[in-house]
Amino acid sequence: MQKTIISVKNLVKKYGDFEAVKGISFDVYEGEIFGLLGPNGAGKSTTLEIIETLREKTSGEVVVDGFNLDTAPNDIKKLIGVQLQTSGYYPGLNLTELIQLFSGLYNRDIDPLKLLDTVNLRDKAKSKYKELSGGQKQRFSIATTLINEPKIIFLDEPTTGLDPQARRNLWDLIREIRAKGTTVIITTHYMDEAEILCDRVAIVDAGKIIASNTPDHLIDDLVATGFERPKEVKKANLEDVFIHLTGKALREE
Ligand code: ADP
Ligand code: MG
Repeated sequence: MQKTIISVKNLVKKYGDFEAVKGISFDVYEGEIFGLLGPNGAGKSTTLEIIETLREKTSGEVVVDGFNLDTAPNDIKKLIGVQLQTSGYYPGLNLTELIQLFSGLYNRDIDPLKLLDTVNLRDKAKSKYKELSGGQKQRFSIATTLINEPKIIFLDEPTTGLDPQARRNLWDLIREIRAKGTTVIITTHYMDEAEILCDRVAIVDAGKIIASNTPDHLIDDLVATGFERPKEVKKANLEDVFIHLTGKALREE
């Protein structure tokens, strides 16, 4: 039996008259990679930010590791890792100094080089954030979620805009973080990514969850309706060709 670490019940968020989240319910299990999938405007970021205590909900119940969002938001804050807004990355500071600054905010004593090692950025310790490539920026951003040694991290579209090599590199990193016991909630538009990375997903559309299960189950359910892909599926796709030709090595360094 899996332990539920996040429980969301009938969550509603209104922006004025507009209902962006329309009473969604889902559970996230401890130690899993859970994906919130959905088109732009579906309400994914709103939902994440409410759980992260960064946005007020309109109604509904959110419980994180036994702490109710209404009564114990500060306890929730202590056990989650949130990607900080890039506006907090003071342009004059290098990565080491930024980590020192953030650890101070969290009241933690973190060795910046050790943390940079976990995201493969030790050699950029003296670089400024703006000097990093897209993939390196994302890896640094993920590093900042780990500063307070959280039980759960939230990643909102971490691979958007990355090349295939950097995307794969980030998948490995997310798997490593999970392997250490951290629960991961991720949003993505890439279904190949969700299929490979997520243990379970919820598909959100216009503020409602329209399906939720393991990727495997959802695919089997669709196939059971008689659905078939229009073309016979080849044993490789163009991305396989690209990776085969260009290799898996990261290009940014
Ligand atoms: P997603 O992350 O799935 O793309 P969002 O949660 O960002 O979706 O947004 C859901 C809906 O709520 C969108 O229609 C968006 O325009 C609207 N929305 C988001 N933030 C605000 C806000 N601060 N004020 C008004 N409407 C908002
Ligand atoms: Mg979003």
